[in-house]
Amino acid sequence: MTVELISVGTEILLGNIVNTNAAYLAEKCALLGLSCYHQSAVGDNEERLEDAIKLALSRSDIVILSGGLGPTKDDITKEVTAKVFGREIKEDAHTKARIQEYFRQVHSGQITPNNWKQAMVPEGAIVVDNHNGTAPGLIIEENGKAAILLPGPPNEIKPMFERDIASYLNKLQPEGIYSKMVKICSVGESKAETMVADLMDAQTNPTLAPYAKTGEVHFRVTARAKSEEEAEQLMKPMVDELYKRFGDKIYTTEEEVTLEEAIVELLKEKNLLVTTAESCTGGLLAGRLLNVPGASSVYKEGYITYSNDAKERILGVKRETLMEYGAVSPQTAYEMAAGAAKAAGADAALSVTGIAGPGGGTKEKPVGLVYIGCCVKGNVRVEEFYFTGSRDKNRDYSVVRALTLLREELLKHHS
Ligand code: ATP
Repeated sequence: MTVELISVGTEILLGNIVNTNAAYLAEKCALLGLSCYHQSAVGDNEERLEDAIKLALSRSDIVILSGGLGPTKDDITKEVTAKVFGREIKEDAHTKARIQEYFRQVHSGQITPNNWKQAMVPEGAIVVDNHNGTAPGLIIEENGKAAILLPGPPNEIKPMFERDIASYLNKLQPEGIYSKMVKICSVGESKAETMVADLMDAQTNPTLAPYAKTGEVHFRVTARAKSEEEAEQLMKPMVDELYKRFGDKIYTTEEEVTLEEAIVELLKEKNLLVTTAESCTGGLLAGRLLNVPGASSVYKEGYITYSNDAKERILGVKRETLMEYGAVSPQTAYEMAAGAAKAAGADAALSVTGIAGPGGGTKEKPVGLVYIGCCVKGNVRVEEFYFTGSRDKNRDYSVVRALTLLREELLKHHS
């Protein structure tokens, strides 16, 4: 079943407001298993709105219009839709009583005459009560098609959709969409895609779609099913197959779990404390870890050691190391990680030292060269990376690579 969205309002066309209703509705409809092939925005113009509604009804089963249900003259969605369906507009006693009650409660009974416009509904329309405003939602059905009219304000459209429209749509299209996000680290995007090429070629229900994130690859497994249990059954063989291929490189199958959350969880499980010693990432790595609620049980203190002096003084990096190999070197990354673990009394430590750019690069040590050290219980591993992005990107990648390295080393560690 297809759905089409029309967002009504000149302020959308002028860019005065961001069309968040369309994003909201599109996402909700997709989850309900409806296919949305067209979306449009139309100003408060009768002729153009009429054309848009006719076109939408000619190619889609359900048309959802948002906005233009208010009391003022430029609110024309209801009138134009009624015209397209050839329906008269009549006063609805139930809606009139609700408007009266709403104004009694919210505006001490001060109703202006144009408010009664909102009590007028197209003949035969299903009226959907608005619990957060005065314009009711309206559903007009004809010849297997439906137009659903919803108010524009997000604080009105969302509760109305959740409360009444979702169940109405669910009856028309009983199969919903359910998905799992299989999140992978430590494998590059193209390699990951190659590893599942056969699964992607053979996909029907569930489907498999890759999403490249900074330093990670996510696979969305999506099933179309009548219930969550049925969807779980459909998705299980695909998720199991991904586990067979990627093993412990999968850090979660939950949409909302982030890499740093998975790592904090792992540290808690293993009862280990971690610290960070950062140069070019300037605290971003610590920030990512400390974004996780409850991180305080695994992270007590960390260091931003930008200058050589700070690396020496706080982390105990040897002056000879800095003089001989430079601040951006595997030797310095090694000593930073080992020194940070010691300074913080932590079981694990990550260090980052590199040239984020745009300046500061040389032929031998170009912009994007980053060394990341990871120390777990005295064992230090250092990795070299050549990133090729902007300063921001190089720093973002450094953070993700550091987190990935820590995860790999923690998985090796048996407490
Ligand atoms: P009202 O009774 O407030 O006039 P309405 O149903 O007529 O509601 P509009 O007049 O079109 O809706 O819009 C009212 C307000 O709702 C806008 O000023 C804007 O803040 C918000 N709004 C409308 N359409 C959208 C949209 N597509 N995305 C996000 N916000 C919107």
